[in-house]
Amino acid sequence: MSENKSYAFFQGEIVPEEDAKISIRTHALQYGTGVFEGIRAYWNEEKNELFVFRMKEHYLRMLDNIKILHIECKHSAEELCDLTIELLKKNAPKTDTYVRPFAYKASIMVGPGLQNNPSEFFIYTVPFGAYFKAEDGLKVMVSSWRRVDDNAIPPRAKISGAYANTALAKTDAYNMGFDDCIVLDQNGHVAEGSAMNIYMVKNGELITPPSYENILVGITRNTIAEFAQKEFGITVKERKIDRSELYTADELFFCGTGAQVVPVVEVDKRKIADGKMGPTTKRILDTYEAITHGKMDAYSHWLTPVYAAAGNKIGAR
Ligand code: PMP
Repeated sequence: MSENKSYAFFQGEIVPEEDAKISIRTHALQYGTGVFEGIRAYWNEEKNELFVFRMKEHYLRMLDNIKILHIECKHSAEELCDLTIELLKKNAPKTDTYVRPFAYKASIMVGPGLQNNPSEFFIYTVPFGAYFKAEDGLKVMVSSWRRVDDNAIPPRAKISGAYANTALAKTDAYNMGFDDCIVLDQNGHVAEGSAMNIYMVKNGELITPPSYENILVGITRNTIAEFAQKEFGITVKERKIDRSELYTADELFFCGTGAQVVPVVEVDKRKIADGKMGPTTKRILDTYEAITHGKMDAYSHWLTPVYAAAGNKIGAR
């Protein structure tokens, strides 16, 4: 970080993060009316370069989702990518980093309405290593909390207020001694993890809940579906998953920008297969790591280099 000071993009300019302050009355703080993204940038020591992973896809998802909350953003996805590179250059990390863009309603009036309510936007970045510490895989429970429904708070939108649902599920799982949890939707089908998507392996098939099953349609989920086909010839099947199928799965794993790819080895105190990471999960985890760290040229179009953005072969967006 330059001068040991962290900068943020805030109200149209890059400012010291300590100066990026908002009112205690802010609508998004009071009513949860923000839409955020989580983007990872990976440090490649060999290439002395920081690579941002699938940045444009994240911004395109955010620009889609803000429409749901009547939030306006004056920047295009391309401009948001450029701003992010500029900010990362300013913060100059030489380590894996998380980028958090946040588009939100900024009114300071009392009342939940989204009308006559100005939109604001900021980005901050923070050094970020592994999200989970459990190296041998996660022991999880099925949460008693249900995922918010598309007709309540659309989970596809990454709305900040909806993460109270995530917080309840994750905290109860943690307090009961589990690493995380699997959340069902209102109809009792598997939706996703607390803040990651889920894949199940059964009889050689790779299965994940469909986009209309009250999930965030994860960029990692989609990334895996794409390379599983290209690298291993496995076509991902999108279908509803019953709770009891979790217990009898051959393999289970979570995936997400923060979580990356992480095996789930126990659900509700039932071992998944032999209780160890399975071979398909291992292949997917290794491939995901190689791709995100710029070690597989066929996927270099998903990576944007920060420091050599101009003139570097890798990272055409
Ligand atoms: N589901 C939820 C609820 C999440 O918060 C996340 C993390 N953004 C994901 C899934 C995974 O999405 P992505 O792969 O786009 O990070």
